[in-house]
Amino acid sequence: MTTQNTAPHPALAPAASTGRLYIDGRWREASEGGRTEVLNPATGQPVATVATGTTDDIDAAVAAARKAFTEWSRLSGRHRSRILNRVSAIMREREDELALAESVDVGKPITFAHAVDVATAADQYEYAAAMAQQLDGSVRETPLAAHAFTRREPLGVVAAITPFNFPLILSSTKIAAALAAGNTVVHKPATDTPLSALLMAEILTEAGVPAGAYNVVTGPGGLLGDHLVGHPGVDKVAFTGSTEIGAHVASLAGKRLRPVTAELGGNAANILFADANLDKAIGTIIGAFVFNAGQFCMGGPRLLVERPVYEQVLAILADAVPGVPLGDPQDPQTVVGPLASRKQLDKVAGHVEAARAAGGRIVAGGEPLELNGGFYYKPTVIADLPNDAPAVQEEIFGPVLTVQPFDTEAEAIELANGTEYGLAAGIQTTSISRAHRVSSALEAGIVWVNGWALLDPAVPFGGVKNSGWGREYGPESLESYTRTKSVVIALDEEDQA
Ligand code: NAP
Repeated sequence: MTTQNTAPHPALAPAASTGRLYIDGRWREASEGGRTEVLNPATGQPVATVATGTTDDIDAAVAAARKAFTEWSRLSGRHRSRILNRVSAIMREREDELALAESVDVGKPITFAHAVDVATAADQYEYAAAMAQQLDGSVRETPLAAHAFTRREPLGVVAAITPFNFPLILSSTKIAAALAAGNTVVHKPATDTPLSALLMAEILTEAGVPAGAYNVVTGPGGLLGDHLVGHPGVDKVAFTGSTEIGAHVASLAGKRLRPVTAELGGNAANILFADANLDKAIGTIIGAFVFNAGQFCMGGPRLLVERPVYEQVLAILADAVPGVPLGDPQDPQTVVGPLASRKQLDKVAGHVEAARAAGGRIVAGGEPLELNGGFYYKPTVIADLPNDAPAVQEEIFGPVLTVQPFDTEAEAIELANGTEYGLAAGIQTTSISRAHRVSSALEAGIVWVNGWALLDPAVPFGGVKNSGWGREYGPESLESYTRTKSVVIALDEEDQA
């Protein structure tokens, strides 16, 4: 949607609502003056206006990032660390603004925007700050008449492309690690949810990140993303988004032999064994599929239940799920808000209708909620679908849970591994041996036992199969933003011990 005059949400900070790009330390209009309205998913009404960047703007941002790389990469790790710690501190000071931006942009319940989105993103900067001081190489023992050691060096300009569902967390994952390692960044946030990226430009600058080290260009992914990924001035692509676009991005970067981290779609199975603590497991199961209105790559939309407790679990879900507080994201009691866009709502509704038509038993929900013109869908549980049903195989990305029974551990593993995705998985059991056996057999980048979404900046995550490659979080993340250089200094005979 293109417009010139949207009255911004009165409580949004100017950076998040004034229709400008952030390039080379300055706010500027898009080169062709274009603007795009951002809708509040809770009302369907405009809440801000952002600039519609062009390929010229991408060129300017990459040039600025290249220029800034010299200064930023030459700062000591300790110096960068101090700045990143300041970023974290300012994020916590400006928590209300960030949480509001995230909430009106994505439809996130405000309570979670504070407790999860802002808190996690601030933690990421702190963790990255600590890692910035540990970019050590090592001395290598060798029979050569030489002193050999390695250095870890930054890559250069990182293109960070992020999806609509966790704008602040997923961009901070990339940007904090990239900056910690001494890289500079051009960020293309999702068109539907760009607001927190603009606020972060202000915060990073306030913390002392130099002009050009972080640039934000908002605008259409097809045009800007392609141009950015294929840009000769870009040294690494850090992409999070759908499997389809991720494969396209990886192929573009591959043509230029540039490294890519690709965090892609997910469709995780949550396996409930009959020996699990059912009271605890039910809360985990519901949280795993309704969190962020199900728009969670690592959510748990597929529940596999051991046959002896299958009907019991369905009965508990039928009773409990309709009671999950659904509604206005600004209400602190709300647990499930709207979907982030009309497109997402239509996709979810289409999947549920197809599942119903295919004989799926709707145990809870199964319809949208009409409220204030927002994009709401009731948390929905569907039983009795075969494993090849689209609602089981495809990533619905909404508050929808499919439930299937299994008889043996081997069958559970086969069902769990039986999609193209492999991002996350869960096991609910009281048997430690089973937890070890099954977690090692699951094709997933992260496996949770007796819980869900236990995520921390210290613990790496990432996909296998069509969920992508590369790892974010943990020291593994910093690895992917550096390269190793070996230095081998020949020694004169008298220098040798
Ligand atoms: P998407 O449609 O793939 O978009 C992701 C980003 O790519 C957006 O910024 C988009 O810009 C941009 N883009 C679009 N076309 C592009 C192109 N040709 N070249 C380069 N960039 C392009 O994904 P989404 O719908 O925003 O997000 C949902 C998906 O992300 C789900 O599949 C979810 O599982 C996945 N995800 C994965 C993880 C993970 O950690 N593995 C985390 C979160 C989400 P526009 O918005 O302008 O189109």
